[in-house]
Amino acid sequence: MTMTSTPTTTPNATRRAGPPAAGGHGSSAGGRRRGREALHEVTRHGVAILVGLGFGAVVALAIVDEPSGSLHAPGGVATFAGNLAALVGTYLALVMVLLVSRVAVVERAIGQDQLVRWHKRVSPWPLSLIALHAVLTTIGYAQAAKTGVWAELGSFVRTYPDMLAAVVGFGLMMLVGIVSIRAIRRRVRHETWWALHLYLYMALALSFAHQIVLGPSFVGHPLTVAVWSAAWAATAGLVLAYRVGLPVVRTLRHKLRVVEVREEGPGVASIICEGRDLDRLGVQGGQFFAWRFLVRGMWWQAHPYSLSALPSSRYLRLTVKAVGDHSSAVATLRPGTRVAIEGPYGRFTRDAATQPDLLLLAAGIGVTALRALLEDLPADSSPVVVLRASKPEDLVLRAEIDELVRARGGKLHELIGSRQKVRVDRSSLVRLVPDLKRRDAFVCGPPEFVSHIEAVLRSAGIPRTQVHHEAFSL
Ligand SMILES: Cc1cc2nc3c(=O)[nH]c(=O)nc-3n(C[C@H](O)[C@H](O)[C@H](O)COP(=O)(O)OP(=O)(O)OC[C@H]3O[C@@H](n4cnc5c(N)ncnc54)[C@H](O)[C@@H]3O)c2cc1C
Repeated sequence: MTMTSTPTTTPNATRRAGPPAAGGHGSSAGGRRRGREALHEVTRHGVAILVGLGFGAVVALAIVDEPSGSLHAPGGVATFAGNLAALVGTYLALVMVLLVSRVAVVERAIGQDQLVRWHKRVSPWPLSLIALHAVLTTIGYAQAAKTGVWAELGSFVRTYPDMLAAVVGFGLMMLVGIVSIRAIRRRVRHETWWALHLYLYMALALSFAHQIVLGPSFVGHPLTVAVWSAAWAATAGLVLAYRVGLPVVRTLRHKLRVVEVREEGPGVASIICEGRDLDRLGVQGGQFFAWRFLVRGMWWQAHPYSLSALPSSRYLRLTVKAVGDHSSAVATLRPGTRVAIEGPYGRFTRDAATQPDLLLLAAGIGVTALRALLEDLPADSSPVVVLRASKPEDLVLRAEIDELVRARGGKLHELIGSRQKVRVDRSSLVRLVPDLKRRDAFVCGPPEFVSHIEAVLRSAGIPRTQVHHEAFSL
């Protein structure tokens, strides 16, 4: 079933005060938006340059510090290669941790989904290189000492300083690596996988001392030790500040509590939280928080949910579909429950738009982020909104969206029915949105829907830069 409604009224009263303008609508706000984007661009380049320079420095360090002639000594080649693998591997481990450290300026410039994607892409490298380091160094030392590999391993643990801790750290690291292999991860509950993941921080901490007291690039090089230690301390500081300190400060400052849980549709509930100074969170429509509800069984896990409305100074709203333990428990929360938040995160905002006109598409519960993004658009923005659901009752927040679209002079299309009956392909999309090419598309929902629509948009000739997405899975 396809339904279409067209505008009649003016912007509704739910629009908050603040900068309007997506794309070219509103000049001073457009200027601020361009300023923010320029800053993001500088941050993106700055991060790339820093990571590249660091990489070059650690490779150079391993090569320059190799004593001349040591390559020809017994075990020299294996020991050198092991040291190179260790330096590059541990450097990449720091990068891997920094990618998910939630540093606000980097999150805003690059976006959490992209950072997590890079984190996943980088992660196999440090783990493999550190494993390679363990193997090569043991072989190299065994060749130099003219003993067997197993004897050398025993001697490492018994006689070398800080090696026992490093071996335990190595074991933990490998455990995390194995559990993260896709085929295994799919069988492990998200919470179990996440808890195991935390061991990686412990593994890195346990490995630090042996690098300094045994690494050929550090022994007798106090300046290198100082720089390397500073890099590790900075990484630990950023993780603690942004993943622990800032959320604690925000939580204490805003004092959020659940005030209402409202059913929106089958298995979908909106949770309204009350707090203070919430407008100071600097949220843009389309962003999300990691939410931690401070009740038994839920306090230890934070899950990402988008805001389904722009915040006012007193209220935040999220809308959650029950798909598993956490999302089902959310609907049972009692008024008064205290709430801790981490965020706001995400670049699924009008700031990311390159064109003045927007097309917003969402499937299922993806409507939450779309609803808030839509609310953040100015009165004259004429957005085209496409909602996709299997059944009419799955179109939650439909009336609100309809009202917001009308108020912004836009068009709403509802595509309801099974995937076989209602296909969203190039020709249907071009039919619905004849001016598709001059719009930025914002796509939100389950990962399969998002990648399908991205492919359809690409086949319709829409450049990547004009397509923005929030897939409800990390
Ligand atoms: C940026 C973002 C915004 C989201 N916004 C909303 C929203 O507004 N409304 C809504 O209903 N859902 C939203 N989700 C999805 C929501 O986070 C998951 O449905 C929820 O975390 C599932 O947890 P569970 O314990 O109920 O189910 P589980 O059975 O544990 O998981 C179901 C699925 O969700 C994934 N998942 C579980 N926990 C997390 C986590 N902490 N981080 C990332 N993925 C996880 C799992 O990999 C699995 O694919 C969003 C997800 C992301 C990434």
